[in-house]
Amino acid sequence: MRAQLPDRSLPWAVAAALLFSAAAAAAAQDLTWAVHDRERPQPKVVAPGPAGPPVPPPADAVVLFDGKDLGRWTDAKGGPARWKVESGYMEIVPKSGGIRTAAGYGDCQLHVEWMAPLPAKGTDQDRGNSGVFLMDLYEVQVLDCYGNRTYADGMTAALYGQHPPLVNACRPPGEWQTYDIVFHRPRFDKDGALVAPARMTVFHNGLLVHDNDVLTGPTAHKARPPYKAHADRLPISLQDHDHPVRFRNIWLRELE
Ligand code: MG
Repeated sequence: MRAQLPDRSLPWAVAAALLFSAAAAAAAQDLTWAVHDRERPQPKVVAPGPAGPPVPPPADAVVLFDGKDLGRWTDAKGGPARWKVESGYMEIVPKSGGIRTAAGYGDCQLHVEWMAPLPAKGTDQDRGNSGVFLMDLYEVQVLDCYGNRTYADGMTAALYGQHPPLVNACRPPGEWQTYDIVFHRPRFDKDGALVAPARMTVFHNGLLVHDNDVLTGPTAHKARPPYKAHADRLPISLQDHDHPVRFRNIWLRELE
C-alpha cells in the first residue's frame, strides 16, 4: 500500500516546502511504502568485483574479531559467546543466540566480512539470514539474496524494515562479502526527546547501498517503532537467525 502524497491542490510553496525540506524528504521516503511491502521495487543486481583477501584494519582501529577468538564478544546475557571459531572465521551455532561486543560504541566506521552458507538452503528470509546491529538496535541485514528474492526492505544490506539497498551487490554463497558502515547514533536531549535521528552510509562489496540514510527508529519486524532514548554507547551485535553464516575480520574506528 502506498501512503497518500501531498494533495495537488496544495499551494505550490507549501507543497514544495513539504517535499524538499531534508526532513520531509527523508520522512516521505520512509512512509511511501508500508513495512515489508512485497510490491516495493527490487534494486537492480550489480555484480561486484571478485572477493579479495581480508581488508587489513588501519592503525587506529579497534579489532573486534581477528579470526582467533571471541574475547571481545559475549552472549546476550554477558556470558561467553558460544559461536564456533575455526580457520580464521567465526560461524553461527544455530539456536545458541546472538552475540554482542563486551564494550559499547556510538558513532563509528565499522568493517565486517561475512559469508552465506554453501550449499544455499531455503528461500526468501530463510536463507543465510543474520544481521549486524549497531548499538544492538539498528540492523544492517545479512541475507543471501544471490538469486533469492525477498521483500526489498528486508534483503541483503537493507536497513531492515526501512531502507532497501540502492543495488543488490551480492556475491554467491560461499564467497566472502564486505560491509563498510558509517554510523551516526541518534541524539536525545536531557529529557529523552529525539534531537537527531540515527544515520547510516553503507558499502556492500565496495558498492554504495545507503547514502546517509535516516533511520525512523530501532529495527523491528513488521513495524517501525519510534525512537526511545538510550545510552550514547551500546554494544554491536550479530544476529543468530538459525543459519550457519560466517564472519571474519571485524574492526571499527570510533568517530567521537
Ligand atoms: Mg537478519
